[in-house]
Formats: sequence, structure tokens, C-alpha cells
Amino acid sequence: MLSFDVETDVLVVGSGPAGGAAALLLSTYGVANIVVTKYGRLADTPRAHITNQRTMEVLRDAGVEDQVVARATPQHLMGDTTFCSSLAGEELGRLRTWYTHPLRQAEHDLASPSRICDMPQHLMEPVLVENAVARGTSLRYQTEYLSLEQDAAGVTATVRDRLRGDEYRIRAKYLIGADGGRSKVAEDIGLPMVGRMGVAGSINIVFEADLTRYTAHRPSTLYWVLQTGSDVGGIGMGLVRCVRPWHEWLIVWGYDIDGPPPDLTEEYARRIAHHLIGDDSVPVTIRSSSAWTVNHQYARVYHRAGSSAPATPCTGTRRRTGSAPTRPYRTRTTWRGSSSSCSTARPTRGCSTRTRASARRWAGRSSSGPTAASARPRASSRRSGCSPPATTRSCAATWTPASCPRRRRSGSGSSCARR
Ligand SMILES: Cc1cc2nc3c(=O)[nH]c(=O)nc-3n(C[C@H](O)[C@H](O)[C@H](O)COP(=O)(O)OP(=O)(O)OC[C@H]3O[C@@H](n4cnc5c(N)ncnc54)[C@H](O)[C@@H]3O)c2cc1C
Repeated sequence: MLSFDVETDVLVVGSGPAGGAAALLLSTYGVANIVVTKYGRLADTPRAHITNQRTMEVLRDAGVEDQVVARATPQHLMGDTTFCSSLAGEELGRLRTWYTHPLRQAEHDLASPSRICDMPQHLMEPVLVENAVARGTSLRYQTEYLSLEQDAAGVTATVRDRLRGDEYRIRAKYLIGADGGRSKVAEDIGLPMVGRMGVAGSINIVFEADLTRYTAHRPSTLYWVLQTGSDVGGIGMGLVRCVRPWHEWLIVWGYDIDGPPPDLTEEYARRIAHHLIGDDSVPVTIRSSSAWTVNHQYARVYHRAGSSAPATPCTGTRRRTGSAPTRPYRTRTTWRGSSSSCSTARPTRGCSTRTRASARRWAGRSSSGPTAASARPRASSRRSGCSPPATTRSCAATWTPASCPRRRRSGSGSSCARR
């Protein structure tokens, strides 16, 4: 008989929004689980942020909605999406977004007790992961997933403790690959990838500046800036995104993916920030800058060895909490980034009425064998709804660090790294 170093019901690879949500829900429903995550920390930059109503309902089911609301930017400070030549410059127009138009607000409020909000990823992950651990999840930082083997009864994964350098095996009934857009789990189980990597280059700049005078009167989570050069690469325009009103910000600015790598010095980042603000007298403190690529790629199949109810993410229109183990949701994806998804052993309790029905539909397709399911980025451009993950076609723009040697235009590239 085989012996394993560690055994559990579900092994979750990754502690991002997808892995954190999967672990939280598994522990909430009493399913033993271990999370392994490669680095010694959770997300340290804002990244994904807008958290839609459906995701908030999942968080409500999990009993953590109030913790998210306490840290998030509320809906009434999100919606005056502004188009301008710079924050201090000409305003070209404003759209009432995120259900803040009075007509949409009524629909939004009537649809659910939960509200959309803006919860940056570096604030969301601790809520998910800390609550998961408090409810029983075993969390292993600095632990890298290396490989897996499936058999009739389960999955055996080999992981490396990056502090000690040694490897050990974890035996699980199910494995969830929540290891991001460049998922090794997805690669190892051969999920077919469709689409294109390296479509455009983008730079994220996180900075602090008091921009109250340019923003508080038109509260928004997104300020779109049309300037010379803003059509190069990236997302088609310069973007000043609010992280915390009105003093923490994230800029997205494009670079030519076929040119030399972008200059990520503090001086360059400050210059871009001042261009987009349109006022050089505003003190700006650069916190970080990083380059990434827009990738249009998705997995056409989300699980292997088909016993589980594969659940695609329950995401915000931009935030991706991947918090839908019993909820096979479609997600919306835009140029903004990869969705994260999660999948778990089988539908369990705790769904709302509507989603219980969809969970049952998926349960009907399940058998009882093991599975390794990858929480791959996925996308669709519509509201959350139930759809078969294996057949949904959509376009995901995913983040790949610009340093990735495989980031260039690479065709569909199932073997191509992606975030
Ligand atoms: C620089 C950057 C900027 C972004 N900006 C935005 C934005 O502005 N708006 C937006 O909506 N989205 C943004 N995103 C995308 C957003 O962060 C992702 O959609 C989201 O993080 C996906 O969540 P996830 O849980 O699937 O994967 P991730 O958050 O990528 O988490 C993957 C997890 O897996 C772990 N991991 C990876 N490989 C292994 C391994 N072999 N073994 C163990 N653990 C492993 C990682 O440590 C991590 O914990 C950005 C991403 C990046 C990188």
C-alpha cells in the first residue's frame, strides 16, 4: 500500500482570490483542505478590485461579507466613470456605471441584499485566507506545487518546501488548481488553451497622492485619460484607478510590446503619474511599478477525470474572487485581466435557491471519482449565469509579467505561460 506524507480531502494550489475563496468555502462546509502557495505572502498590490453583487452574495453565504464591506470602497463612490484629457484637464464625459444610475440602482437594490463594491485584491485575500484558516484550512506558505498523478481513488501531488528545499507528497481526493493564469496544474492535466498571448503591453503604477480636488466631486473607481500616446499598447487609454479614495491610486499605461522593455524607474513612473494627473505640483509617492501583458486566452475545459462539479468563477466584473465552488457561473472578462475560478469536490449546501438548482444540474453530470480541476482564468462578457464551463467560449485578457520569456505573441500556446 502506498504511503503519503500528508493526506487531506482537497488540496488547493494557490492562495489568490480563487484559492482563498475555495479554501474558505471548503472549510465553511466542513471539508478538510490544505492550501499550498508558492510565496511567503499574499498579494501585495491592488490588482483585481471590482467585486460584483453575485460575488458579494457568495461572501455573504460564507459569513465574511461584513468584513469585506468594512474594507471596501462602497458603491456610491464608484460610479462616475470619467473620460478626460487629464484629471486636471478637460472632462470629455462621464458615465454613470456600476449600477449607480438611478434606474439601474433600483434594479441593483431590488436584486439582492448585497451590493457591488470595490475591494482591492491585497485587501480581499487576507479576508478570504484568514477566515479559511480560522475555520480549519491548513495553509502552507513557501510551498510550490511541482507535479501530480491521478489514479482511480484520488490525486497525489508533489510539492517543494521552498524554505527547506525538500519535497513531499500530498494525497487528496481532489485537487484545485488555483495557481493563476500561468497555471502549472492546468498544464499538467493538459487543459486545452485557446487564444493569444502577448496581445499588448501594460504598466501598472501604484502610488499615493491626494487627488481629492480632482476626483471627490465625481467619485469613481476609474478615470480614463485620453492623451497622446495613450493608444500605444495596454488597454487603449491611460487609466487612473482609485485604490482608496482619494489618496491611493493605480495607473495603467501601455507600452509597445514589440519595442524594448519598459523603463520602470521611479522617475519614469512619476512622470507618467503627473501626465495623467495633469498637475505636476501634486506630490506623488510611487509605491511600485510593474509591467504585464494583455493576453487573450482561455481554457476550453476546466477539469479532468470528471467527477467534480466544475465551477467557473463567480466574479465581479473585474474583481475575481473565484468564490463559486457550487456555482457554475459564467464570468465577464474584458481586457482587464484573467478571471479566476475554482472548482471543488461536489456541490454542497449553502447555495442560494437559484444556484442550488444549477449545482444540482452539475451534480447530475458528476460521478464519484477523483479530479484535478484547474481554476483557470475564464471569461464571458455577460452577467453571472449558469453555463457549462467546458463549452463556454470567451476571451480572457490575462496578466503575464513582462519579464516572462514566453510572453510575446505566441499563438494559442497551450504550453505558453500565462498568469
Ligand atoms: C501586475 C498585475 C496587475 C493586475 N491588475 C489587475 C487589475 O487592475 N484589475 C483586475 O481586475 N485584475 C488585475 N490583475 C489580475 C488579477 O490579479 C487576477 O485576475 C487574479 O489575481 C486571478 O486570481 P487567481 O486566484 O486565479 O490567481 P492569482 O491571484 O494569480 O493567484 C495564484 C496563486 O497561486 C500561487 N501559485 C502559483 N504557482 C504556484 C505553484 N506552482 N505552487 C504553489 N502556488 C502557486 C501564487 O502564489 C498565488 O497565490 C492583475 C494581475 C497582475 C499580475
